[in-house]
Amino acid sequence: MTTDVVIVGGGPNGLLLACELALAGVRAAVLERLPERATAPKANGLVGQVVQALDYRGLYQRFSGSSGPPVPVPGFQFGALPLDLSALDGNALYALPIPQRRMEELLEERARELGAQIRRGHELVTVHQDAGLVTAGVRGPDGRYELTARFLVGADGGHSIVRKCCGIDFPGITDRGFVSRSGQVTIHPPVAIPGTGELQVPGAGRFRPATFTRTENGLFAYGMFRPGLYRVAVHEWVSSPLEDSASMPLDELRAAVQRVIGGDVPMSEPADGEPSALRRSAGANSRQAERYRHGRVFLAGDAAHVHSGVGGPGLNLGLQDVLNLGWKLAAAVNGWAPPGLLGTYQDERHPVGERVIMHTRAQTALLSPGANVTALRELFTELLRDQGTLRHITNLMAGSDVHYGTPTAGPAHAMTGQWMPDIALHTAKGSTRIAELLRAARPILLTLTGRTDLAEAAEPWSGRVDVITATTAEPPAEAVLIRPDGYVAWAAGTGTPAPADGLREALQTWFGSPAHEPSGGDRNAVPTC
Ligand SMILES: Cc1cc2nc3c(=O)[nH]c(=O)nc-3n(C[C@H](O)[C@H](O)[C@H](O)COP(=O)(O)OP(=O)(O)OC[C@H]3O[C@@H](n4cnc5c(N)ncnc54)[C@H](O)[C@@H]3O)c2cc1C
Repeated sequence: MTTDVVIVGGGPNGLLLACELALAGVRAAVLERLPERATAPKANGLVGQVVQALDYRGLYQRFSGSSGPPVPVPGFQFGALPLDLSALDGNALYALPIPQRRMEELLEERARELGAQIRRGHELVTVHQDAGLVTAGVRGPDGRYELTARFLVGADGGHSIVRKCCGIDFPGITDRGFVSRSGQVTIHPPVAIPGTGELQVPGAGRFRPATFTRTENGLFAYGMFRPGLYRVAVHEWVSSPLEDSASMPLDELRAAVQRVIGGDVPMSEPADGEPSALRRSAGANSRQAERYRHGRVFLAGDAAHVHSGVGGPGLNLGLQDVLNLGWKLAAAVNGWAPPGLLGTYQDERHPVGERVIMHTRAQTALLSPGANVTALRELFTELLRDQGTLRHITNLMAGSDVHYGTPTAGPAHAMTGQWMPDIALHTAKGSTRIAELLRAARPILLTLTGRTDLAEAAEPWSGRVDVITATTAEPPAEAVLIRPDGYVAWAAGTGTPAPADGLREALQTWFGSPAHEPSGGDRNAVPTC
């Protein structure tokens, strides 16, 4: 065995997984086929609970440059319908603008700091596994070699070779009914209004950055990353599909914008050497791997699911797959994973992927042309005036409506299986908050009302679970057992004192036998793939 876990793909999901594994003391090698990071623009930022999740690892601060916690956004869009979140009680929608390339640089820097190996220019070509090990066949700069590990994770994007090699189906739809064109361009005054990022287009009106505009001919959206440099995207409905192109002329983008919004936006190639990244792509895929695991091989990120980018949910989904999988794989490698722990990755994350595919398809339908869709949008606009509906949609987009269920017997506290909110705490060492306690990616038993019996019950797990005694203004529970991915494994109500037996059962269920002997990890035998 040459490493513990091979990660195929050095995109954001593969790199975050390398960080998670390294935090748990697991050796990880990332294979990335590109010798240099790609320059084509991809994500413009992160939307949803993932922003808080990154704060729970201290990465929000690196990504945003801000020292404080993230704050929810006052407004967003669902299918290009405005969501006014300024007065929403419990708004869980966070957003973090950051180009994907920068995100990858920062994640790679963090992974290397933690000791992960990143092998650029190394392409996975084959995968074989038996009951105990998985072997990656790799084509590297110096020729072919094999890398053997306990587990392999395919974070190798939508065309995943890992998924194909394992024979995992990727059912869904390919919608060829529209064509998208995008590019990075300079837009000059007077159309570009200095200082605001807005565009005043003669004959078409005023447009705001980071919003979709739907017309009967298509959709128009753009963002401004720094004064003068705009990322423009335009979608048109087509009856016969066009071919993809990575070298589309600039005039084609300008003409498409004019057809969609009915006014001309004069644009030129960026003057400062930034790539124009002009691209035409036909249609979009909405697909999900039928399973996320094949024996010792797992899928994460776009390798597991692809969908329309409307609402920017891709990395909210993928990076939280990784946070779910990372600590479980580390537990298996470190020999204390309880039976079935690795299986919970599929059980918990596949339904979340299904919901993202559902809401991106629903938004795509709302963006379609036609009088019937316009009527549906009017109805949605009325429904979204109701705070309950607004909260439902916002939680769906944020991914904060995820509930992982309660595998232990008996009635469970309402927090069990839910995301742990970032509450302010006071400990003997001073003020802190949940996000700061989870930075090391270790399970935590947090006692909030001085229940020493619960702290004592967790003592046999002290090598794996940190016990923290704290107080808070309004304790949501007497004690909370928090998984490394920020979800609540167990909680004790503040009414009738919860017996310590429930806590012991939850500790055993999620963090294995308290005996300090390694269990030997996961030995799920599978055929060779
Ligand atoms: C134009 C565009 C805009 C987007 N905007 C947003 C947005 O605003 N917000 C958002 O959340 N998401 C957005 N997305 C989606 C987001 O970019 C993806 O969800 C994200 O890139 C998925 O990350 P990943 O790590 O799973 O895969 P990828 O980023 O695809 O990375 C996979 C990596 O694996 C490598 N690889 C592939 N095969 C092999 C192999 N055989 N061996 C070794 N390495 C291999 C590839 O070179 C690549 O580096 C956008 C996507 C696009 C295309």
